[in-house]
Amino acid sequence: MSKGLMLIISGPAGSGKGTVNAHLIGSGDFVYSVSATTRMPRPGEVDGVNYHFITKEDFISRIENGDMLEYTEYCGNFYGTPKKEAIAVLESGKNLILEIEVDGANQIKEKYPDAVLIMLLPPSFKTQEQRLRGRGTESEDKVLARLERTREELADVSSYDYIVYNYDGKDTEAADRIRAIVDAEKSSIRRNPNVRDRYFED
Ligand code: 5GP
Repeated sequence: MSKGLMLIISGPAGSGKGTVNAHLIGSGDFVYSVSATTRMPRPGEVDGVNYHFITKEDFISRIENGDMLEYTEYCGNFYGTPKKEAIAVLESGKNLILEIEVDGANQIKEKYPDAVLIMLLPPSFKTQEQRLRGRGTESEDKVLARLERTREELADVSSYDYIVYNYDGKDTEAADRIRAIVDAEKSSIRRNPNVRDRYFED
């Protein structure tokens, strides 16, 4: 059985990556990698579903034990991808979505050059700002920190493979575009090196 595709979907706060990824996961073709984090849960977030909410001590011991595929510090909190769960999904042949930021994405690309890196963006910085403030889940200083972080993240965008814009109210279309990217990647000759042998098999 062929291995699943490791798909990294990054996007600044307000890009709508949670909504877009929910479309993909809902279709049954993708499994969401539940990250570990030291940040506090937001209203409505469920432990083990949105994140594994853990203490800083626990996080550090997981790093020391080599249990994290990648990790980073983002706006004062740690975030990381649990290794065992991710590997198990890929081995089962399913596609895995890692909803992670740029630093972690680059760590993954080093270890797994076959990973596909997609940057999801709002149509403009102005739209991003409006969405973030409209969300109203964070204090003004946190909103400003996240907007500032966007500038740093986009400085690294050249290491990504694809850009997808998420226009207002068009999250289904953004998910469709990501599906099209996955189809194209899976159809690439690079990912199908045995095409000749298989064709003449029987
Ligand atoms: P939030 O606090 O808004 O849920 O996430 C903050 C940022 O951390 C987002 O850009 C999100 O994609 C990223 N993030 C979430 N989980 C991980 C992870 O496991 N590793 C890395 N490197 N970034 C993550």
